[in-house]
Amino acid sequence: MQDMFNKYLSLRRKILVVDDELINREVLGNIINSDYDVLFAADGDEALKIIRKEEQTLSLIMLDLIMPHIDGYEVLRSMQNSPNLKRIPVIVLTADKSAEIKSLELGAADFISKPYDMPEVILARVRRLIQLAESYAMLNRTEFDALTGLYNIEFFWEYCSRYDIFFPHVQTDCIVININKFHILNELHGREYGDMILKTISSFLQNTVAKKDGFACRRSDDTFYVYIPHQPDYEQMISDLESYIQSAAGNARISLRIGIYTRTDHSEPINSGFENANTACSRGRSSYKTVITKYDNALHEKELYNERLLQETDKALQEKQFRVCFQPKYKITGAVPTLTSAEALIRWQHPTLGMISPGTFIPLFEENGLIHKLDHYVWDETAANIRAWKDKYGTSVPVSVNVSRMDIYDPNLEQELLGIVHAHNLTTSDLLLEVTESAYTDNSKQIIRTVEALRADGFRVEMDDFGSGYSSLNMLSDLPIDALKLDMGFVRNICVNEKDMKMVNLMIDIAKYLEVSVIAEGVETEEQYLRLRNAGCDIIQGYYFSKPLFPDDFEKLLVNKEWKC
Ligand code: C2E
Ligand code: CA
Ligand code: CA
Repeated sequence: MQDMFNKYLSLRRKILVVDDELINREVLGNIINSDYDVLFAADGDEALKIIRKEEQTLSLIMLDLIMPHIDGYEVLRSMQNSPNLKRIPVIVLTADKSAEIKSLELGAADFISKPYDMPEVILARVRRLIQLAESYAMLNRTEFDALTGLYNIEFFWEYCSRYDIFFPHVQTDCIVININKFHILNELHGREYGDMILKTISSFLQNTVAKKDGFACRRSDDTFYVYIPHQPDYEQMISDLESYIQSAAGNARISLRIGIYTRTDHSEPINSGFENANTACSRGRSSYKTVITKYDNALHEKELYNERLLQETDKALQEKQFRVCFQPKYKITGAVPTLTSAEALIRWQHPTLGMISPGTFIPLFEENGLIHKLDHYVWDETAANIRAWKDKYGTSVPVSVNVSRMDIYDPNLEQELLGIVHAHNLTTSDLLLEVTESAYTDNSKQIIRTVEALRADGFRVEMDDFGSGYSSLNMLSDLPIDALKLDMGFVRNICVNEKDMKMVNLMIDIAKYLEVSVIAEGVETEEQYLRLRNAGCDIIQGYYFSKPLFPDDFEKLLVNKEWKC
């Protein structure tokens, strides 16, 4: 890198000399051609053609002002209007002192008076101006993010802290903005489209911070930081941002998650303010709509609570505070619904905090890498229960366990599951595996490989929460799966919202096309059940039949496999 840099520094620079008088061109050319490659133009028209052609390589332009047709002022004006040409420094050549102000306003960088009686001075000024322009360009390049033109993070921190020094009493907001499922947008619509969205957001932010006296930067791929004086309300600004994005986005659904932290104490480090905003931002992760989350006392309390859960997890696992429930699934294609399998669902029976639902700790464990330990525990407990039921009743139903998306990345997953099955003297058909649809869209290649291997071992795999991710039909037909489990969000509303019923019908069609069975979960009423049965759904899970049951209660169902109304 350093070599490249030195090589670049030693390259001969190119200078364009523009003057309508041949003698002036020659004199100036002779002064500078020892150190520089010199191009010549005899009028403004010719000059602009060369400038446009050589815009990447020209280091300097020496420009006469008074020329026939297009004069020097006109050349300066045209250059000012083009961001690419604007960066090339111009020395104006003039005998007329009064022309200086006007050319300065038009972007000229320096003057040399005619006649050219001090060649060393001219050469020194040329050298200094080129150096200056190059250092400035370098600074510019590192100060701003190349794609979006926003500050990069180092400069952003620098400007934020300068702001704090100059305005110590102004309350400020740290804002983190992230695009939901940005990698999916890139995958579905291409990188250029993704870049366009990033630039659209940046241009909105740039205008906003200019109006409100703040700063914005691109923190990483699709994360933006904004630092501005405290605003009482962000609803309007964010709704404007959404419309601005949507007008550029076409048909794609784009939503954001936004975290805001109001900084009252400027003695706390600025980056910890942004950490809090980040925490708030990640709270909106599971939503498909734009969510604004403020970091406030409630969130802080929640953070403390979560931290406590994380610290107590190991002990809780040792003490078996985690308890596995089983929710039955019924096959509804025959004359009467029959118990066909169950889903293992975890609960945390905490000695002082009471029963904690997985909705609270599973996302937390997924973020902190603890999920794998917990899932292993659930798989093992489930296998132990199946073994016990087989021994006790000579029969059992297969039980599905949830395989978190993080588990899929574990190269030992297959061996681990096989190990558990063998340790309890079961077969792979006793355990079903539920993998959420969004895991497939995260890294489809890796997941397909893993799931294929698991199926080759005899495990059956169900795609959980189907309809909530972004699978395309093309992708689905390549997927090695045995069943689609409809996302509960659709099932919940099939009796109140015709659109959701249509979606469910469509998903059932897709399942038939793929020749896999369809499971609906979250079925709570008879009406939902009947609608789903009529639509061709194969298996039902939900409070209508049964809530998740602790093993003792679930056992009672095994005694008589048939379910009676
Ligand atoms: P999920 O895998 O989609 O599980 C279905 C959830 O729907 C369960 O919530 C279940 O109790 C609930 N449910 C079932 N029938 C009904 C109904 O008729 N109405 C309503 N309103 N809800 C119903 P739960 O047990 O709270 O689990 C929530 C989520 O936590 C699960 O969603 C799953 O993503 C995760 N989870 C639960 N146990 C485990 C586990 O052992 N490992 C992993 N990785 N995730 C788990
Ligand atoms: Ca599940
Ligand atoms: Ca589900």
